[in-house]
Amino acid sequence: MEIDWLSASKTESLRMTGDVNVALEHPERLAVVSVDPVRVEGTAVVRGDVMSVDATIKATVIYRCVRCLNSFSDDLAAELHEKFSRSPVNDEMEADDVTVTMDPIITLDPYVEQELVLSLWQNPVCREDCKGLCPVCGTDLNVRECGCERQSIDPRLEVLAQALDLMNNDSTDD
Ligand SMILES: [Zn+2]
Ligand SMILES: [Zn+2]
Repeated sequence: MEIDWLSASKTESLRMTGDVNVALEHPERLAVVSVDPVRVEGTAVVRGDVMSVDATIKATVIYRCVRCLNSFSDDLAAELHEKFSRSPVNDEMEADDVTVTMDPIITLDPYVEQELVLSLWQNPVCREDCKGLCPVCGTDLNVRECGCERQSIDPRLEVLAQALDLMNNDSTDD
């Protein structure tokens, strides 16, 4: 998503809407199956050498529940507030918040992506009381109780059982 500095400076407040594609290959997004679409809506206001961009970011995120491994969707909303300057910023306090750039076109995608990643759920659960998978047999305990003896399971084996189950069930839903 791009903003043309010239057209933004010609109007009081430039309205902008657009979609941004977000890649998923970073480790902090492992519990995320997909993010689509990422809708950005907001304004760009130019005053002197400074452009202020204020926008809302909305996306539907498909997460994989960390307990039962089922995927579920959740709506994400985040805010984007960025300032760009075409001249050096001397004030140290202000310099932290302002990106100095001589580009005639501002590409918002990396800023949108950054905000989005910060707003992603790190350990998503499909619901508060999700019972997860049986570490012995892999049954989804939300669906039925398998009757396994789970008390004596070594926590290290539980991790292994979940990993095996993840491999076996990787492409079950959709
Ligand atoms: Zn779950
Ligand atoms: Zn079981």
